[in-house]
Parts: sequence; structure tokens; C-alpha cells
Amino acid sequence: MITEISENLYRITLPMPFRLRHVHAYALACGRRLTLFDAGMLMPGAYEKLAADLASRGFAVADIADIYLTHTHADHCGLVEAIQEKSGARLHLTEIARQVHAHFEEGGRLVAKARAFYARHGMSGRDVAAVVEEIEDMKTRLPRLEVATLLRANEVRRAGNRTFEVIFTPGHAAGHVCFFFRDEGLLLAGDHILPYIPPSLSPNIDDEVFQPLSSYLESLTVIEKLPVDSIHPGHGNSFSGVRERIDEIRAHHALKKEALVTLVGRKGQTTFDICARLIGEAAAAWDDWEKFMALNETYVYLQQLKKDGRIRETLTSGVLYYSAA
Ligand SMILES: [Zn+2]
Repeated sequence: MITEISENLYRITLPMPFRLRHVHAYALACGRRLTLFDAGMLMPGAYEKLAADLASRGFAVADIADIYLTHTHADHCGLVEAIQEKSGARLHLTEIARQVHAHFEEGGRLVAKARAFYARHGMSGRDVAAVVEEIEDMKTRLPRLEVATLLRANEVRRAGNRTFEVIFTPGHAAGHVCFFFRDEGLLLAGDHILPYIPPSLSPNIDDEVFQPLSSYLESLTVIEKLPVDSIHPGHGNSFSGVRERIDEIRAHHALKKEALVTLVGRKGQTTFDICARLIGEAAAAWDDWEKFMALNETYVYLQQLKKDGRIRETLTSGVLYYSAA
């Protein structure tokens, strides 16, 4: 499906596995020249869908001259390589997003790091193997990226007769950005602010100093200060009322953090133990990917609670345990 959301700016809905089922890319036309924001997921039928949607408005993949990425998760950069092969499009993203992608490409080293990281957080060998499988699967969905320029915070870029600002919004991913068309009050939000679900948070296992939750909440404040009239996210419908949505997401995180702290008792437990208790019986209905995301999120809250001084972390025989401070 392709929808014109503003003059010559199109939303293109592309397929995706998992429960989200779809991801949006956005295409800005100036004459025949297209600027694409995000590039869908690499999966059967996705490229054809992009080509068919563009064709329905008189464009072709070969017209894509530039691609801007909000972040390098597989559902946002998947088709970059195929598009670049066809059109020679110039690719623009942040340095951190480029690094995160490069770490995935290195493969072996990332898997070894992931094994050590998740074992340290109390995962059994079998569960670590399942995580490694998820990472390996994700790797096969990542394209090779030929980068033209790196995005700097708050710089203004031009596409035809339109200009937009690059707003750094680390949190959902370390190198995440939104694109803000100030004249129209229009924000291409990537996965920073979604209409129905709070964006997932997960560790950057290559940079354990990165605090996803506090970075994310700071990035919400950055957006809150902008004169945004309409938000166009990576998943779900476009919406307005950004401040109300930001308040809802803040409340969600505050609630989840409080729910989690009540599960941390005097006796030390691992991130994995605490996550299992948090999910409870619902675990039976969850697939490995959902459990993996829940573990990541538990990690994120525990790290924040530790930083807030509300829980303690101790290392025993290579495994991290958390207890009430
Ligand atoms: Zn996404």
C-alpha cells in the first residue's frame, strides 16, 4: 500500500514477519528523483512490493537517489543493498548506526560476545543457543551497506525543494535518528515513538555503558520540545498529539520499572530469573524471539534501577545477581 501523507511524500507499507507484520518506508519525490527514508525488511516479496507501489505512482526503484536510515535494525535497512544495486542510491546514516551494523557483519565476534553476555545474565546453555540462533537469523537479513555520508546531530539536509532536520534520538537503538520537516511540523519517527506499543529497548552488547532507558527518555524530551504536528512512525498509523503519546510511554516505563523492582528481593537473582518471574505463565505462549526481547527489556530496567541506587549487582562465579539495595 502506498499513501500520500503530505505533498509528494509517500508512505509505503512493506511486509515483515513477527507480530508487527508490516514496516513503513517513506518516499519523498522531487520531479522523478526520490529520497527514501528507511528501507523495509529483506524477505520474499518485499522488494517487489516496493517496486510495485512506486510504479503505481509512476516511479521506479531506479529513481531512488538517496536513502536515509533512522537506524540499522533489520526491518529498516533490509532492502538497501538491492536498491543500491538497482539505482546507485547514496546512503546516509549515523556513525553509531553504521558501527552497530558493522558489528553484526563481523558475525563470529558478535556471537561470542552475545554468548558471554547472556550467560553472565543467567541464561542456560540451551537458551543461549536459542539467542545465538536468533542473532544468526537476523544476520542473514542484514544487507551490505555502501555509506555515502554520516549524519550529524541537528544538521539540515535538503531533498529537492524540501529541507529536513536530523534529530538524534538514541534509545530504541543507540544510533537512532528522526527526520523533522519543520515547515510542515512533520516527523518521520522511525521506531522512536510508535502509536500502539512502546518501542522495545535492548542492550547494545558492544557498549554496555549505553543506558537505553535513560537515553530513550531523554530523547522523548528532545521530541517533546519540537513543534511537531504529525508523527509518521515505522510501524502503525500516522497520528498527532505527540505530547499525549510521550506521556503514555513515560507512564508505561515508570510502571514497568516499579513492577520489576518489587520482584527483586533480598536473595540475589539473575536477569533471567527475574524475567521468568515477570513473564510468568504467559511464557508458554511466547516464541523465542519474544522471550529474547523480554529478557533484553528486563536487563534494561535492572541496569536503570542499579544506576538509580535501588538495587545491587554482585558477580559470583561469572554470573551477575541482583538484590534489593
Ligand atoms: Zn522497526
